[in-house]
Formats: sequence, structure tokens, C-alpha cells
Amino acid sequence: MSRIVVLGGAESGVGAAVLAKVKGHEVFLSDKGKIKDEYAEILKKWDIPYEEGRHTEELILNADEVVKSPGIPGTVPMVQKLRDQGTHIVSEIEFASRYDSAKKICITGSNGKTTTTSLIYYLLKNAGLNVGLGGNIGKSYAYQVATEHFDYYVLEISSFQLDDVYDFKPDIAIITNITPDHLDRYDHKMENYVAAKFNITKNLTRDDCFIFDSDDDITIGHLDNIILRCKMLPFSQEKEVEQGAFLRDDKIVLRYEEEETDLYLQELALGGKHNIYNSMAAALAAKASGIDNEVIRNSLATFQPIEHRLEPVLSIKDVLYINDSKATNIDSAWYALECQKRPVVWIVGGTDKGNDYSILNDLVREKVKAIVCLGVDNAKIHAAFGPMGKPMTDARSAEEAVRKSAEFAEPGDVVLLSPCCASFDLFKNYEDRGQQFKEAVRKL
Ligand code: ADP
Repeated sequence: MSRIVVLGGAESGVGAAVLAKVKGHEVFLSDKGKIKDEYAEILKKWDIPYEEGRHTEELILNADEVVKSPGIPGTVPMVQKLRDQGTHIVSEIEFASRYDSAKKICITGSNGKTTTTSLIYYLLKNAGLNVGLGGNIGKSYAYQVATEHFDYYVLEISSFQLDDVYDFKPDIAIITNITPDHLDRYDHKMENYVAAKFNITKNLTRDDCFIFDSDDDITIGHLDNIILRCKMLPFSQEKEVEQGAFLRDDKIVLRYEEEETDLYLQELALGGKHNIYNSMAAALAAKASGIDNEVIRNSLATFQPIEHRLEPVLSIKDVLYINDSKATNIDSAWYALECQKRPVVWIVGGTDKGNDYSILNDLVREKVKAIVCLGVDNAKIHAAFGPMGKPMTDARSAEEAVRKSAEFAEPGDVVLLSPCCASFDLFKNYEDRGQQFKEAVRKL
């Protein structure tokens, strides 16, 4: 038995604390902020001592090992102190994987994690496997290891969760793509962010697989500098690959070991170029898990869009309203605009994360007929797109944004909420923004 101190009392921290308790350790959880009622309930139920609103040094510095929640930056004073005195600090997934022998398919990347993770989970479920879904989605991995028994896990993993990883090893690792995001947590250095994502590959062995986007220059650039001994399964929409997935005519071709499998693009449930990538990654993970082609085809054809990701809400007077509130960076908004076939009234804005809007110029010129800025400070968006001379206006609430969009829109148009910004200036989070948008649409 050792003394495990968990820093952070939300989904992953509470999950780690419960697991530590189940495994017979002495546990203490400390959160500098307020712990939500639902998590405090769980801690009480499992009889785990905790504190909130402070970090008490005497109760933390005596830890044998510390599990740090991904929300806590490595630079906070308490973490620094622990490191200075040589205390071992691990992430929740590192801690949980010690007690888990299930096969793990782990997905990280800048965009497309949730979609790809959910697709793979759906594929494995349809194949009849005993599979758990977790990580950044739903229940934490640690909590499930403590309370469930699965043969497979499909885990969505953010780069923060990969920060303090040592022995954690997926059987199949996926990096969907890498574009600048969250650079504030990485000293504003892109190479640090890329290296954190690649932590997912660091323990892969010959029998494991790495699935990645070979059209992504950043991924390929990093691969040139490291050595991986696992099976490499790239996916590409630009070129044929020896093993992996690529496009031929109107089909995705999966080339896995000696076999080739075709998937018709027309039959994919999820539209858009980005979802071709996500479907390729998911299908390769399924092939590498030995799943039948029929199950793969059926699953990719029947998967339902996930909330807040290019989610069609309603068609009113032949104007389709689409909720893509999860598009919190430029790249995701790029793909959302790219796949629109009808003129777009675009709702954009929020908390800017250092966006370079010029990347969107061509698409905006071609597809967007009017812009509604939904944010407290919209100056940067006006500066970026104002010179194009399209109708533009500001809104301070989802309701106002929807009303103004409806005024711009004509039959046959799309109203697209794809903000390329975080939501914290006007909303609790991107879910709240998406919900308020949908409610406003329903009230039209
Ligand atoms: P994540 O979990 O990585 O944030 P999601 O699947 O939730 O990714 O999608 C986030 C946003 O990015 C959505 O707006 C979605 O439409 C868009 N998106 C999804 N997959 C991709 C991809 N492969 N490349 C770029 N954007 C994507």
C-alpha cells in the first residue's frame, strides 16, 4: 500500500482516486478550486478523504506518488514543489493502465478525436465485442477500470492526458491530425505540443499499430525524426499507400496485410472531407482488430452524427440550421465550410485563441454570403473578413445570432454555427453554446 495523492477533483481525478482506493492504497484528493457536487458525492460514497479550495502542503508533499489531472498545468507551484523533491507524478491514464489488461485503442489529435473514437466504439460494439468507451468522453478510464470489466477500451486522449505518461501503451494508437491548438500550455512552442501528442506512440511494440494521417505535414515531419517499430497504417486522400487507407475513384480502399477492401464514399453516414479521414482511421482500427468487412461497411453507413459536430438541427423555410459549436479552432471551421454545398450564413466568433483567419479567406469568399459575429469582442473577425464586403453584423447571444441569421438567409441557404473560437466569453462551454443555438432555432 502506498499513499496516492490525486490533484484535481473532476472526472479524471475522481476516477483515479476511486481506482486507488479499490486497489487498497491510502488516497487523498486535493483541488484548489471548488469540487462539483456530483464528484463530491462519489468521493463521499467511496469514503475518500479530500479537500477543496486549497492545497495543504503537509497532506500532499508526503505522497509516494501523485496523480495529476490533465486540467492542471505542470507549471503550478504545488506541482513544481513535488517535482523538486522528486515525487513521481503520473497522469490518470498511466495510473489506470497498470491495473488493466484489456486491449486498448487510443485516439489523440487536434481535431476529430471524439468522432473517430465514437466511430470505433460503434464498430467494435457492432462486432459483438465487450468494449468500454472512455477517456475524454463520458466516464474516465480509471473509474471504469475500477468498476467494470471490459476486453477492449476505446479511449479518447487529449494531449494534456499524455503529458505525464511513462509506460502507458495502447495496442492501436491513432493521431487524427496535428494543427496548432492549446499552444498556451506548451510554452507557445509547436514542437512541444507535437511531442506531447506523439507520447501516445512511445511504447508501441512490433505487434502494435500506429494509424496516422499521411497528408498531414506536421505528423509526417515528426515521424521523420523518430523511430517506431510497430505496424504503420497511414491514411491519405492524396496518394496511394502500401498499407493503410487511400482513395480510388469513389471508394476508400483499405489495404491491410494481404487484403484489399472497398468502402463506397456514398455509403458513409458522415459527410465532409474531414469525416472521410475519420472514417478511414476508424476502419483501419477495425481491420487491425480483426472485424469483418460487412460489419465495417454497415457501421460506417449507419453511424449517427454526434451532437455539436456538424449536427443538422432543423430546416425552416428551406433554410438548414447546422450546429458545429465544437469547431473551436480554424482547422475544424475550415472543414465545416469546405463541405457546404449551399450558400452559407456563417455564425463565427467567441474567445479567440490566436487565430490566423486568413487561412479561411478562399472558402469564405466562395461559400459565405453573410457573417454574424457571436462574441464579446469581434474586432479581429471584422478586420479579417470586413474587406470582402459581405453583409456582416454582431450578436451578443445565441438567440440574437439566430434571429439575425434568419434575416440574412433565403430558401436554399444554410445557417452554420462553426465559431472557430472558444465559447467562454458568452457561454459556459461549447455544449452550452450549441444547446442555446438549437433552442433559439426551435423557437424561430
Ligand atoms: P475533437 O474531439 O478532437 O475536438 P470532434 O470529433 O469533437 O474532435 O470534432 C471537433 C470539430 O472538428 C467539429 O467541428 C468537427 O466537425 C471537426 N472535425 C472533425 N473531424 C475532423 C478532422 N479529421 N479534421 C478537421 N476537423 C474535424
